[in-house]
Amino acid sequence: MTQQTPVMRLCISCRKTFDRKNLLKITKDHKQGIIFQKGMGRSAYICKSKICYSDSKIKKKLQKALKTFLEPEFIDIFEKEITSYNDYPNKGI
Ligand SMILES: [Zn+2]
Repeated sequence: MTQQTPVMRLCISCRKTFDRKNLLKITKDHKQGIIFQKGMGRSAYICKSKICYSDSKIKKKLQKALKTFLEPEFIDIFEKEITSYNDYPNKGI
């Protein structure tokens, strides 16, 4: 049996590395704009810790990481996304 090495990614908020499966990926897709968990383009990862996603500076950090402007509505969508992701950690999209 081959051992699977977890893919480690950095949370842009707490700057700790986590298994990719435990992070929410936010991508600035070339065609679709900002999308979660899929897409091609510049991406940022955030862990599921409430301290991270409810951080008041998270929007700024994301804008910097994705090199884009995020609409004010983004934070609402983002919070919904990450909280539902917390409920179903293995659902996969
Ligand atoms: Zn974090």
